[in-house]
Amino acid sequence: MYALVTGGSRGIGRAVAVRLAKMGYNVLINYMSNDAEAQKTLEMIREAGTDGELLKFDVSSAEEAKAALENWQAAHPDDYIEVLVNNAGIRKDNLLVFMEPAEFQRVLTTNLFSFYNVTHPLIESMIRHKYGRIINMASLSGLKGLPGQCNYSAAKGGLIAATKALAQEVARKNITVNAVAPGFVRTDMVEGLDEAELKAQIPMKRFGEAEEVANLVGFLASKEAGYITGEVISINGGLYT
Ligand code: NAP
Repeated sequence: MYALVTGGSRGIGRAVAVRLAKMGYNVLINYMSNDAEAQKTLEMIREAGTDGELLKFDVSSAEEAKAALENWQAAHPDDYIEVLVNNAGIRKDNLLVFMEPAEFQRVLTTNLFSFYNVTHPLIESMIRHKYGRIINMASLSGLKGLPGQCNYSAAKGGLIAATKALAQEVARKNITVNAVAPGFVRTDMVEGLDEAELKAQIPMKRFGEAEEVANLVGFLASKEAGYITGEVISINGGLYT
């Protein structure tokens, strides 16, 4: 049994990779550049009792994603990736009035176009096997819109809409497609934010942990979650959306 986690070298993706390994999956860890951290995730997967592989490619590139996934499939003709977690993401916050075209484009290609780039090469084999689980990492920002994040909110909002659309396309084939929308989770991504000020606005008065998000993703990836599809599940300590 194989699962792919994009952005699996650090943060939420790493915690998800370990969670899926504990469920018995061999986990393919995609990442962009951080070889040492990706290797560490692989070791954690092995400690959890399964195995994994590193799949280094830029999710914002359709060509790179297609080539990497086709190569993997050619090397594993009898297997298929039945769980896909589209998790890789970046933020480049700025008020729109100051935002450069590249800041808007890079966030869209990494957080939204990546959904197409990675899902497209894998969906056909899920359909053929009549089983699959796709979980897309959205954000509170994609539901509510957050100032300074027109690019990120647009990408995550688009990802939520794509989740709902694809869910309806493949439901008959026993493939579920859901999104998870975290609030503030303690990872490298939130470094530099004013934690004290933000915590004050969160009813639970704390940031979430990557493992808490991973538990939710693990449930959505499980057989038990088979009748949940097209949903967006918030995990944010009670932050109003
Ligand atoms: P993180 O700690 O910054 O990790 C980002 C991961 O994405 C890393 O593994 C990174 O690989 C990978 N990545 C970035 N760009 C990539 C690319 N072009 N191609 C392939 N991999 C790429 O982030 P995180 O906080 O765990 O966030 C994970 C997801 O949750 C993101 O989609 C984020 O938007 C979402 N999210 C996070 C929060 C939060 O509070 N942390 C809240 C809501 C939603 P390298 O290690 O090689 O750089």
